[in-house]
Amino acid sequence: MEKQQTCYMCSKAATSKEHVPPACLFPEQKDTKGLDFRKNLITVPSCDLHNSKKSNDDEFLMLSLSGLIKNNPVGTFHQITKGNRAVRRKNKDFIEKEILRNFKTTKIPDSSGKYRLVSIGNPNIQRLTNCLEHIAYGLFYHEFQKQFDGEVRMILEFIEYQDDNTQTLKKFLKRRFEVEKELNSGVKGDNPEVFQYEFHKPDKDGLIALRTIFYGAAEVYFSFKGKNSKQPFDLSFMLIEGGIPTIIGLGEEKYEFNKSITTKT
Ligand SMILES: [Zn+2]
Repeated sequence: MEKQQTCYMCSKAATSKEHVPPACLFPEQKDTKGLDFRKNLITVPSCDLHNSKKSNDDEFLMLSLSGLIKNNPVGTFHQITKGNRAVRRKNKDFIEKEILRNFKTTKIPDSSGKYRLVSIGNPNIQRLTNCLEHIAYGLFYHEFQKQFDGEVRMILEFIEYQDDNTQTLKKFLKRRFEVEKELNSGVKGDNPEVFQYEFHKPDKDGLIALRTIFYGAAEVYFSFKGKNSKQPFDLSFMLIEGGIPTIIGLGEEKYEFNKSITTKT
């Protein structure tokens, strides 16, 4: 008899397989006239609670990510086919409350001067973060064949953060994956137009461990802080969050955090 598998996120027995990322992000052949964007999709064992299909999160994630302006043509195509079908099934309220607040459609010129219909508004970051966290746990399970026990943090590259520190961190992380090639385990994913990911080997700070790319453009960076990891695993984060001026060097470049602190009088 096959050994009972446990869920990729908790200690419950697995009752199903969860796609990581959700299968609905990948275009179906009925839309692509036979082009296959669903090669070797990743699955992990999941309990009922952590199967995102049951919470409508998959559809939410698909609508949130496929609608991003910077996406490649596959992302845009997916938005206007599967994305629009999903929107038509929902009412306007769902879009406004769940996907984009202050939602409106507008036309913007793309790089070739053609106008494209896009949706603009404030994304539901909290729900998006929750969905992406599941993907991080799932990819960790798939990569290391064990459940991750600890804390996951993430930076969404396509979000304009309000504070300077996070904006700086975003640039730093993006650059780090570009220059520290020897630490990377290689870009993986059999449908690169839809989804790719790359684990970064742990370094002295343990600042970052995973980069994911949706539709060739939308990047999310994750750091995994294991439960038993020792300091200074997250030292850089602690300094930055503690408001302490911190400079992280990357080759010749310097990334400065908390530099414009004003003294309270
Ligand atoms: Zn579970």
